[in-house]
Parts: sequence; C-alpha cells; structure tokens
Amino acid sequence: MRTLVVDHPLVTHKLTALRDSGSDTATFRSLTDELVTLLAYEATREMRVQPVQVSTPVGVANGVKLAQPVPLIVPVLRAGIGMLDGMTRLLPMADVGFVGLRRDEESLLASTYADRLPADLTDRDTFVLDPMLATGGTLATVIAMLRDRGAASVTAICLLAAPEGLRHVEETFAGSGEPGGGAWVRVVTASVDERLNERGYIVPGLGDAGDRLFGKI
Ligand code: URA
Repeated sequence: MRTLVVDHPLVTHKLTALRDSGSDTATFRSLTDELVTLLAYEATREMRVQPVQVSTPVGVANGVKLAQPVPLIVPVLRAGIGMLDGMTRLLPMADVGFVGLRRDEESLLASTYADRLPADLTDRDTFVLDPMLATGGTLATVIAMLRDRGAASVTAICLLAAPEGLRHVEETFAGSGEPGGGAWVRVVTASVDERLNERGYIVPGLGDAGDRLFGKI
C-alpha cells in the first residue's frame, strides 16, 4: 500500500478551515468539495492512458486519452456523497457505484447495508471516497469488495487519516501489488492525524464528517 499526504499549502489552508468547529454546514460543504478536487488531482496521477493523435488548426499533435474501461468512483454512504461533486469535476466520464456501511458504536466493526457496484471490475481503476479513515474497518471492507470483483487498482481519497486506520488497511492488503510492482492500494489524504480516541474519532480530526456535511439525523 502507498500513502500520499498532500501537503500543498492550499490544501492545508482549506483543511484548517474545515477542522474549525466554527465553520458552518455551507462552508464545510464547499471546503470539502474544493479539497477533494485538489486531492483528486494527485490521486489520478497514475491513471492509465492510451496514446492518440489530434489535428490542431496547424498540424498534428501527439497526446493521450484516458484508457477504457472508464474508472469507477465509489462514495461510501453517507459522508462520501459530500465528496462526489469534487471528484466528478475532474472525472466527468467516470461511472459511480455506491457502498453503505454501518459502524457499530460499541465494537466499531463495519457491516454492509448497501452494495451498488458493478459485478465485474476487471481492468478498472477505482476511487473510493470516504472523508475519514479512522479504524480502517470500513475502508478495508470496501477495498475487499472491489478486489473480489477484479478491480485493477483502488485509490482511497480521505480528507483525514488516523495512523491506526492506515496500519489496519496496510496489514489487511499486505502483498497486494500490481504485476509491475506498483501499489494496488493507495491512500491519498490531506493529513495523517495523531490518533483515535476511545470512541473511534480522529484526534484532532474535525468531528463527525457526516453530521457536519448533512446535519445530525
Ligand atoms: N468518522 C467521522 O466522521 N469522524 C471521525 O473522527 C471518525 C470517523
């Protein structure tokens, strides 16, 4: 597994405002949207392309276009929905699948309540959207679902990650590599925070991402 912490000043600036408990829902939503687009720019760096030529008004230019099949974006319900627009802004041609997992507040274990993924993901790059990589249980479950359908790669885009969650995902998928030796699982995040607290929240974190995006229900 490879972890990329995007430490661009603009990312850190927006993340700091996002963490601030004084940021209201509207501000939190638009900061999330902007941050995801910035993270997505780095997360898509290794997307597969194929060479093409185009005719310009004055000649022929060699370039590339994204390879088929198109990538699959997988927002994890519910908070991942708040990241979808920021991602499709960069990848408007991508398909979108949905996964819903419920976390038991006592055991912190995740169980699946929604699975709207294609049955066959052979040769497809996949991008999982989940703002908080906390225990890693949810992300590991989603990655396993994508692996079992044959995904070519999984890149998780998380606003924040905890060291415990990164370790859990890394241990779960140790040894999963691409034939060329590249990372099959990648995590792209704006920060690796200190730790989890006893309730499984990231410290200092930003609180409950779903509640801050969509309100407490
Ligand atoms: N989920 C959240 O929304 N926040 C955390 O800190 C951890 C999990």
